[in-house]
Amino acid sequence: MAQSFETIRYETDGAVATITMNRPDQANAQDSTMIDEIDAAFDLADDDDTVRVVILAGAGKHFSSGHDLKAIVADDGSDPWVAMRATPEGKFHHEKTMYFDRCLRIHDFRKPTIAAVQGSCVAAGMMLAAMCDLIVAADDAVFSNPVLRLTGAGVELLVEPWELGIRKAKEFLFTGDTIDAREAWRLGLVNRVVPRAELEAKTRELADRVALVPPVTAQTVKDTINQTADLMGKRDALKYHFMAHHWVHNSATALNALSARKAKGSMKDVIAERDQGQPGSGS
Ligand code: ZN
Repeated sequence: MAQSFETIRYETDGAVATITMNRPDQANAQDSTMIDEIDAAFDLADDDDTVRVVILAGAGKHFSSGHDLKAIVADDGSDPWVAMRATPEGKFHHEKTMYFDRCLRIHDFRKPTIAAVQGSCVAAGMMLAAMCDLIVAADDAVFSNPVLRLTGAGVELLVEPWELGIRKAKEFLFTGDTIDAREAWRLGLVNRVVPRAELEAKTRELADRVALVPPVTAQTVKDTINQTADLMGKRDALKYHFMAHHWVHNSATALNALSARKAKGSMKDVIAERDQGQPGSGS
């Protein structure tokens, strides 16, 4: 069975449904349409009793470059969610509905999920992958979240402490440095690293094994493990960060950077100018 969408593909084959982000020319940047369509595809997978496992993948060279920021900055009125970001209240509502709730929906999805990650997995791309129960990485996968210097207080869900450990999370976010597939495996961010050419087959192999587990046990144990993390404070920490993230979005620092970006057209130029003369700017 196949259903057509504009920005994703949804396919089922036996017990496995595959949702593939399909904007390869934009490195699978997530715009509102894609976020809606991923959500709709999860509805299909939820409703289909033959589906036991869901794979989330990205077409082309990269898993996902994160949210489609071009659409947000351009604000040409074509996307009602983007237009809503003109006020702090609207910005909050947009990110709560489209980013925070939609991500947690995947995190809480009752059936097991596996992300298949290749190439760049940046910021909200990494946030999305981290919502899945398992991650299979191609050997060319590179994870990064370089948003702190761009005045973003991380992305909407601060997954890093849970995925990388506290100390590494701080280094990763402060420096904006990348983590390659091997290091991601060592840190426990991904379950397996496979050759790029075998990513699809190896992910499917893993999905087929998980699909052998009766749904009642797979879903119950997934829920219990998620509940364990929540009892350790995961959900409260995510909610706390989301509020803090929004406080920073509306700080003078972030608002000034956003206007400068709109004027200059590139955040890189804004940051380069701001960094001039600051300690450590000599590189
Ligand atoms: Zn945000």
